[in-house]
Amino acid sequence: MDINAIASDIERVIVSEEDLQKRVKELAAEVDKDYDGQDLILIGVLKGAVMAVADLSRAMQRHIEMDWMAVSSYGSGTKSSGVVRILKDLDRDITGRNVLIVEDIVDSGLTLSWLKANLESRGAASVEILAILRKPAAAKVEVNVKYVGFEIPSDFVIGYGLDYDEKYRNLPFIAVLAKHMYA
Ligand code: 5GP
Repeated sequence: MDINAIASDIERVIVSEEDLQKRVKELAAEVDKDYDGQDLILIGVLKGAVMAVADLSRAMQRHIEMDWMAVSSYGSGTKSSGVVRILKDLDRDITGRNVLIVEDIVDSGLTLSWLKANLESRGAASVEILAILRKPAAAKVEVNVKYVGFEIPSDFVIGYGLDYDEKYRNLPFIAVLAKHMYA
């Protein structure tokens, strides 16, 4: 879906399609280099990471395995509490495997912090995180995100997998949702 279809719903574009694609290719090259000669499984966090896993994996020049998890974070309102429920678990055992969690955005970091600990407790050889976007709040939490696409302000953003009320995931860019859309 292109910008003309939803122009009045957004305040501004903060990461263009071109910049996103360029950065994802750079991240793919970094991951290729870091895991050279080692096995690697990409774990996408549904549903937001669908676009990131699709683009990242296609830009990589090696074999990878793909698996998916869906989690929901218990919490009041819009704040994540760090207490997480698994809605869909991995299909395969990750004992002894190198795992790269792929996430759309790190905000409080509580969800990822829980997920990383959970995957480590299953005996993975290594667990690292790649997030396309990182908000300033993430700096307050001790979750080490090895690969970050873009640092963005705290505004609520949509596109490239990120939704508002399940919509806008199919935008090829990232934009700040206009306030009138949720006021
Ligand atoms: P955390 O535990 O880091 O606070 O929660 C991260 C999750 O909150 C993300 O995976 C995403 O689902 C959601 N989230 C955080 N910020 C935004 C945002 O600006 N837009 C959207 N659509 N979701 C967000």
